[in-house]
Amino acid sequence: MIPEISAAIRSISGALDLSKRLVEVTQKGENVEVVNMAIDIKVELAEAKSILANLTIENAELKLENFELRQKLQELENQQSETLIFKDGLYYTESEDVPFCVGCYDNNKKVIRVNPMSPMMAQIGKYECPVCKTVYQ
Ligand SMILES: [Zn+2]
Repeated sequence: MIPEISAAIRSISGALDLSKRLVEVTQKGENVEVVNMAIDIKVELAEAKSILANLTIENAELKLENFELRQKLQELENQQSETLIFKDGLYYTESEDVPFCVGCYDNNKKVIRVNPMSPMMAQIGKYECPVCKTVYQ
């Protein structure tokens, strides 16, 4: 919660308590105009408190939405910076000659480097994806 809103809610709650007491005290004096003014103050403060509570909720929702949009933007920026080129059954970036897994990118848009197979496993394939375990020739 924004500190200023918290402080405003505390102030209004305090004023609301005072206005309730003011209503009680003025009712004993039987001055109708003063009693009505005290009641009006109490109503206005209760409404202000309600508005602030709604703003607090709206603020929290906007913060969450902002966070989610920033994450999506970051994902899009990451994808755009990784323009992949399909070559010899694997994906490569323009700048690097390191291959990436085709299955992981096509299925989940994840850019996963494939690892070279050990010399003992070279008969099976040249690269293996550490995530989906696909072997590439
Ligand atoms: Zn993979």
